[in-house]
Amino acid sequence: MRAAILTIGDELISGLTADTNSAYLARSLVELGIAVSSLSTVGDHPADISRELDRVSSCSDVVLVTGGLGPTEDDVTKQSVAKALGLQLRLDPDLHRRLLERFEGHASATPEVVENLAMIPEGAETLPNPVGAAVGLLVRVGDKRVYILPGVPREMEAVFETGVRPDLLALPKTEVVSSRLIKTTGLRESAIAGMLRPAVKDIQASVGYLPRLTGVDLSLKATACDEGRAARILEEATGKVLAVLGRHVYSTDGLEIHQVVGDLLIKTGTTLAVAESCTGGLIGHLLTEVPGISACLDRVVVSYSNSAKVECLGVSEETLKAHGAVSRETAEEMARGVREAAGTDIGISTTGIAGPGGGTDEKPVGLVHFGLAVGSGLKAHHEVFNGSRGVVKRRAAAVALDMLRRQLLDLKE
Ligand code: ATP
Repeated sequence: MRAAILTIGDELISGLTADTNSAYLARSLVELGIAVSSLSTVGDHPADISRELDRVSSCSDVVLVTGGLGPTEDDVTKQSVAKALGLQLRLDPDLHRRLLERFEGHASATPEVVENLAMIPEGAETLPNPVGAAVGLLVRVGDKRVYILPGVPREMEAVFETGVRPDLLALPKTEVVSSRLIKTTGLRESAIAGMLRPAVKDIQASVGYLPRLTGVDLSLKATACDEGRAARILEEATGKVLAVLGRHVYSTDGLEIHQVVGDLLIKTGTTLAVAESCTGGLIGHLLTEVPGISACLDRVVVSYSNSAKVECLGVSEETLKAHGAVSRETAEEMARGVREAAGTDIGISTTGIAGPGGGTDEKPVGLVHFGLAVGSGLKAHHEVFNGSRGVVKRRAAAVALDMLRRQLLDLKE
């Protein structure tokens, strides 16, 4: 079964609004084991909508259309879809009655507005919208299904989840696709591809590479005639990738790195204190997203200035003078200082130059030093990240969390 997604709106093709609906729907369809053959976007122009719908429906079993369902002049989706499918728009008396009840006493809902909302292509089924006025629609054309959903993402998601997902789940499938994201860190795409090359010929699933700031996600997809077989192929492929990439994989179940680290801290009962400079509290922010982290996270000190590093963390003036704030020595003293002050099992630190100014030949923009204190031991690491200030901060936070993750795995063994 093949599906196409068509999003409609002038604001989408002008770049004023990012098309998040396509991504949501594509992810959901893949989860349902339905292959997505195309995503396309057109403006609020009836001829463009009809032409694109004609094109995508000729090669898909399911078409999902979003946007332009409201009652305003620029909402032309229903007319255009009806025209492309050779259908008339008819007033749905039931929907009209429900809308009149809903809008009773609302001055803005003129009889024309309500009537407009109640017009649907002949033979279409309505799909309830639990959070808005514009209902979704399902138009069947032979064996094909065209779903029309509102453009407001919250409403689109609500109609999809209550009306479309259950309907698609019930359809008999000739082919099932099972997929999984394997999230990795510490390796570039090309390095992963090189490591996986010998194993790939034995992997029956397809492997896609999705580079992100935190690392590279691998998308595994297994296609088979039934769910059991697709699941078995996916399990086998996952096992082979894990055997090759080992600890570079931090999750196979969708969890982000801070969630993995938070869960590991909680599961192992390990306590932590964090000293951040260039990451400005980002590590603390991410860890405090994890429910239950208060049992393990003692404190997060954001020590931006030299004096804060001395006063709050006990970094020595001599170290700062001799090596500078962005140095292995300072990072180590920050990690040790915060661990000792908090009395935790682990202390971790970051200090770097997020840019765009402040770099030198010796210490370029993007240089970040990391320190990790565990018991009486100290570990250090540094990297030079490319990218804007925000990117350097996000990458540095991810690397610090990854150092923690690997340390926690060592402690567990
Ligand atoms: P209404 O007219 O009742 O608001 P609608 O179904 O006609 O609903 P649109 O007018 O197309 O929806 O869009 C409403 C809002 O949803 C706009 O702010 C628009 O930018 C946003 N939106 C529309 N399509 C998308 C999309 N594909 N991704 C993200 N946002 C979208």
